[in-house]
Amino acid sequence: MDRGPGAGWKELLYTERAMNCIFCQIIEGCIPSTAVYQDEQSYAFADIDPKAPVHVLIVPREHIASLAEAGKDHPALLGHLLWVAAEIARDKGLLNGYRTVINTGRDAGQTVDHIHVHLLGGRLLKWPPG
Ligand code: AMP
Ligand code: ZN
Repeated sequence: MDRGPGAGWKELLYTERAMNCIFCQIIEGCIPSTAVYQDEQSYAFADIDPKAPVHVLIVPREHIASLAEAGKDHPALLGHLLWVAAEIARDKGLLNGYRTVINTGRDAGQTVDHIHVHLLGGRLLKWPPG
């Protein structure tokens, strides 16, 4: 199959990035995770260090480093991640409410450079966060 000039380089870049990104490796199944939801655009899995009785991470299959890196092609995908969070919250029966969080950059405490929505629920969540 001819994928056009440069296709090989693109593939190589993707592979290198995936190798360096823990969430890309989770999406690929190279690192185990507990799946909560998946579709063509997104994957959701249990946080390994839960901060609430329900703590799920929703990530796009596409590698986007952070919200700050999202481009003009991404609004629909970003909205989709929030819809997935709401679907999971409904499925988990979080009738009293829940919180969705996107940490962006060092000051916000982002530790994994693949955009992710935290879905937290199942207990009273204080405000403001630290
Ligand atoms: P943040 O600090 O907003 O970048 O969130 C990263 C989250 O990823 C943290 O809540 C971690 O507990 C979680 N995390 C890191 N490694 C894994 C893993 N292998 N499986 C599931 N969750 C993870
Ligand atoms: Zn990634």
